[in-house]
Amino acid sequence: MIEDRQRVSLKTLPDERGYYGEFGGRYVPETLFGPLLELEEAYGALRDDAAFQAELGALLREYVGRPTPLTEARRLSDACGGARIWLKREDLAHTGAHKINNALGQALIARAMGKTRLIAETGAGQHGVATATVAALLGMECVVYMGCDDMARQAPNVLRMRLLGADVHAVDAGSRTLKDAINEALRDWATNVRHSHYLLGSALGPHPYPMIVRDLQSVIGREARSQCLAQMGRLPDTLIACVGGGSNAIGLFHPFLDDDTVEMIGVEAGGEGIEGGRHAARFGDPQRGRLGVLHGVRTYVLQDDEGQIALTHSVSAGLDYASVGPEHAHLRALERARYTYATDEDALEAFQALCRHEGILPALESSHAVAEAMRLSTERPSDEILLVNLSGRGDKDLDTVTACIEGGAL
Ligand SMILES: *Cc1c(COP(=O)(O)O)cnc(C)c1O
Repeated sequence: MIEDRQRVSLKTLPDERGYYGEFGGRYVPETLFGPLLELEEAYGALRDDAAFQAELGALLREYVGRPTPLTEARRLSDACGGARIWLKREDLAHTGAHKINNALGQALIARAMGKTRLIAETGAGQHGVATATVAALLGMECVVYMGCDDMARQAPNVLRMRLLGADVHAVDAGSRTLKDAINEALRDWATNVRHSHYLLGSALGPHPYPMIVRDLQSVIGREARSQCLAQMGRLPDTLIACVGGGSNAIGLFHPFLDDDTVEMIGVEAGGEGIEGGRHAARFGDPQRGRLGVLHGVRTYVLQDDEGQIALTHSVSAGLDYASVGPEHAHLRALERARYTYATDEDALEAFQALCRHEGILPALESSHAVAEAMRLSTERPSDEILLVNLSGRGDKDLDTVTACIEGGAL
């Protein structure tokens, strides 16, 4: 016994330099180094500050509507015929997805640091809406950078952000999408850091962002873990979550990391399939998904043969990004979590199944996780429990789904 080295919990990561194994870090120009250190220091103090945690907890309850329920998908499970499927209902959080957990927490951190202005980037507009929402709640200024092409594709979310009082900046550079919006947001932050906070939307970017976002989203897994014990009388066998940048997945997984019996599966966007390259499966495509640095962090990045960032595709805008959070890369390297993908078609089928069997319209992102749960259920015995993170609701995706139905994809 004495010789047994005590096992170090994965929960203690990242290390002091912001690494999860060989992934993570802080690959930024000098102008951003100071602001990142300032944020790391402020967060280090607030993390253990009782008054800060009490205020965050109260707003999560009284404004966001937490805890979100844990629902057994009885008819869907019956239809699949095997393992039971349960849903963690982030679709019922205010603004319809898990993104508000992170936006609210970071806005409170920013305010505690004396900042009065929030900067965000957004692709589909969901993170922009969450940030504009908390800016309104706390009486802060808000500027959101969004690619021109994304603004045209996501017009209702542009309207929402403006109604909430945000200043939405069109980004006309590069591919005129999320990647370019992030560059603009970083530039703004470097210039206006004295009174501005860059509110990053997923478990990505340079240290300390992946850690802060994970901590703030871990409320999902903490609630789910105690709800499982109360409602099922035990822990689930398997956790399943979709992985864009990775925030809803790491938020669910993290509180279960020391529970060795609990299997974890992340589901990437398989788009039109891996072969043709029209997907966002950073782990699922061994040819194009390689170790690299994008937006300040070392992780898996989809690249072409010359190392240029590859164009990605998914029916769900929230999963359509070329890189993935560093903690996921590490969990995969350790084989603590495994990663698979669902195609556009799989996701659309799962979307429809959840509508018909449970009366729940899931986000297309979340539908990727539902698709994997449906597939696994048929292979696993009926005394096993699969817990799916239903990261958001599908109202935002009605146009996309309707177009797919009309196009014959459903
Ligand atoms: C943005 C989004 C995602 C993907 O982001 P993660 O950081 O990977 O969680 C998933 N689901 C919904 C509903 C989203 O809005």
